Amino acid sequence: MTNKEIARKFKLLGQLMELHGENSFKVKATDSAARKISKLPFSIAQKTIEELATIPGIGKSTAAKINELVTSGGLKELETFLSLTPEGVLSIMNVKGIGAKKASAFWVELGIDNLGALWYACKDDKVSKLKGFGKKTQQEIQNLIEYTIANEGKFRYADAVETANVLFDILKAQTPNPQQLSFTGAYRRKNELLTSIDFIVVQTKEDLLKTLNENQDFSLINEDSSKIEVIYKTRFLVHIYFCEEAEYYAYLLETTGNEEHVDQLENLLNGKIPFLASEEAIYEQAGLSFIPPVRREGLNEIEQAKNGKLPKLIEATDLKGSLHNHSKWSDGIYSIEEMALYCRDKLNLQYFGISDHSKTAVYADGLKIEEVYQQWKEIDSLNQRFAPFRVFKGIESDILSNGALDYPDEILAEFDFVVASIHSQLGMDEKKATARLIKAIENPYTTILGHPTARQLLIRSGYEIDHKKVIDACAANQVIIEINSNPLRLDIDWRWIPYCLEKGVMLSINPDAHSISELHYTDFGINMAQKGGLTAKNCLNCLSVEEIDQYFKKRKSNIISKFGHD
Ligand SMILES: [Zn+2]
Ligand SMILES: [Zn+2]
Repeated sequence: MTNKEIARKFKLLGQLMELHGENSFKVKATDSAARKISKLPFSIAQKTIEELATIPGIGKSTAAKINELVTSGGLKELETFLSLTPEGVLSIMNVKGIGAKKASAFWVELGIDNLGALWYACKDDKVSKLKGFGKKTQQEIQNLIEYTIANEGKFRYADAVETANVLFDILKAQTPNPQQLSFTGAYRRKNELLTSIDFIVVQTKEDLLKTLNENQDFSLINEDSSKIEVIYKTRFLVHIYFCEEAEYYAYLLETTGNEEHVDQLENLLNGKIPFLASEEAIYEQAGLSFIPPVRREGLNEIEQAKNGKLPKLIEATDLKGSLHNHSKWSDGIYSIEEMALYCRDKLNLQYFGISDHSKTAVYADGLKIEEVYQQWKEIDSLNQRFAPFRVFKGIESDILSNGALDYPDEILAEFDFVVASIHSQLGMDEKKATARLIKAIENPYTTILGHPTARQLLIRSGYEIDHKKVIDACAANQVIIEINSNPLRLDIDWRWIPYCLEKGVMLSINPDAHSISELHYTDFGINMAQKGGLTAKNCLNCLSVEEIDQYFKKRKSNIISKFGHD
């Protein structure tokens, strides 16, 4: 059992305690144990009860629970609470922005035990009459429910990868022709959100059904002449297309691209995709160069392929450094040294940028000015030891509600780079939110605009902003836009990358890592970058260490010459 899995159980326990009105001291203790566990840099499943109890913030009773969980796979206390809680109440509690306390009020005081009933209660103005709730909160809750319902059945790409690979292996083991088995659909296009994981295989329906029926993890829900639909482990909808050998590449192409892409392609092929021996051959017959699956979205890719203008897409190996990362100095788990060495030795990068949270981000233990100075000393000494590898001094500066950054100019001027991000007051309307971002973009010390909308996929829709105005402002001020690669965020949305490129705005693929394993998040960012047609040339962290060092220095000297600051 991983720390994250254990922490999740504790988090749920804390929520259920709160939902059922347990004493608030116990709720807080459970919740803080969950947070503590998720941030420990070693696996706690390996530890004895005695060792566990000596970890600060864990204590005896938590240690006993961890032990119960690891040895038996479950927690009695948790199961009891779960058995007392209707599923609909759990769904309400799990809506981010509602939580256990509010769910408890709806349940206890209004008898509401499902999302639909809560939506009607908002609409009928019943929620605003509860103690501690007003009209504004009621409206927010209604919006959250609508967002949740609109996204039902969707899951994030990153959450499906492991399962998708397991399924691939299951299918591979039973097909006589493993060469003609492939991912297809939106999964093959690496879309950030999916409704199903899709495969195509050369096989008969009967053989395929036999395999699926033999495996208890599949529940059959539908079948027709070209595909079988199953649910895997009660969680993922899976489509398995089957066909004959000659049809394979035509059907692979047809099921991979979205409708617009396939329509446009068919138009070039007299209405029907021919049965040829490869996807390349089919594109060639249409007069096109090969279009990579990630780009088959029916945007401008066919036009580009026709004119030989398909960009050479950026690849993971083009990245030379990792910017926007958090260490122990704020809310990360590891030291700067540990993260930098991982970048150097395991990821073969030339530099590591640290950008811990700034002072306003109290929730994330943001750095006070004295701490910034101390951190710089540490970085200076690491740079002496690690040269030619570099650690760059950055900060993730909160954009305050008026658009100002979080430190005085004298401090901002000393950083190698500044990532400006919003983390609070996400409820502003579009006009105010856009103005707030533009103010921060116009700040001469802003190097990178971090996660522009602060969205969290399937959790919250993020800031409504006028993307064009924001991107135009970045172009005018030479501010780089981040592709935040945390699979929850993937923000800026890849659909805006072409507009960034049109305006000459550079992007930076940043992991926003709070731990060493999260440094690999850039893989998800690369997917998004490819979907948007990004090349290495337009990506900041594809610069070599010398180039980016020069780049940061030049920016600073421009500020001094422009604003006379020193
Ligand atoms: Zn952030
Ligand atoms: Zn961050």
